[in-house]
Amino acid sequence: MKLSLFDLHCDTSGEMLRQTQALADNSLAVSLNKATVFERYIQVMAHWTQYSMSEEEAWNEFLAMINNLKKDPSVTAGTACISTACPDANHVPTLLLAVEDARILNNKIERVDQLYQMGVRILTPLWKGDTCIGGSHDTENGLTHFGKSALERAVGLGMIPDISHASRASAEEIFAIAKAHGRPVIASHSNAHAVCPVSRNLWDDQIRALLDSDGLIGLNLYTAFLTPDGNASAKDILPHIEHFLSLGAEKHLALGCDMDGCRLPDDIPDLAALPRLAELLLQHNYSEELVADLFYNNAYAFASQYLK
Ligand SMILES: [Zn+2]
Repeated sequence: MKLSLFDLHCDTSGEMLRQTQALADNSLAVSLNKATVFERYIQVMAHWTQYSMSEEEAWNEFLAMINNLKKDPSVTAGTACISTACPDANHVPTLLLAVEDARILNNKIERVDQLYQMGVRILTPLWKGDTCIGGSHDTENGLTHFGKSALERAVGLGMIPDISHASRASAEEIFAIAKAHGRPVIASHSNAHAVCPVSRNLWDDQIRALLDSDGLIGLNLYTAFLTPDGNASAKDILPHIEHFLSLGAEKHLALGCDMDGCRLPDDIPDLAALPRLAELLLQHNYSEELVADLFYNNAYAFASQYLK
């Protein structure tokens, strides 16, 4: 079968800037050349800033990353495009912009509007610890007053909120804000806590709430989120898929591979190797329809409906 890919999370934009690499051809896990194994390719480009930086340094690094991506030769030549909406069926490789760790807002609500104007449509508000936004997965705290206002503004503008990296309390508040706006919530790069009990993975009640919101779950290939001992290969994603399917996620499951941001399984070192996961699923008697849904169709249907 000819595969297309709609991936919900990679950290490639930051690595392109830090390592002076181009999108078309590079030594990173994600490049346009590696994506030629796919018929169509849509990539959510997360913009994560280094935790050691102050909020203002991180804001400036974020601006540098976005500018670097917009000036990439493939983007300026039109062989790839940055979009704010789901592209038409016959599209060139398309990049959607996300921010990971919204502490770069630094208590300035007008920066939410600035992000929107720059084309950011997916907001992963948390990453680690307690920030001006609220508590991350390694804390028990919920959103701050500013965090709630920022999420209200972002969802009101039409951004998609993402609970990956959120604490349980923050996630609950994010669900409530999205629900009040009649908008979906995603978990762009998280697996099932029932299979691998780490704080970055999703509890069953969160999975149900994601499905209730008509959201998406992106499977993460980070080995530490696949198996408790962190020794994982591609096959270790199967119990996660089984668990999500047992909760009724077949039309809400996607990939959020976390490439260029994590340690990948040895048998899927980069984007070009990702079709191996499809082969593995077909060998295990998953249908072609399910594989196509997981790799592309579910996320494409979601983006067609919720990104305008
Ligand atoms: Zn992440």
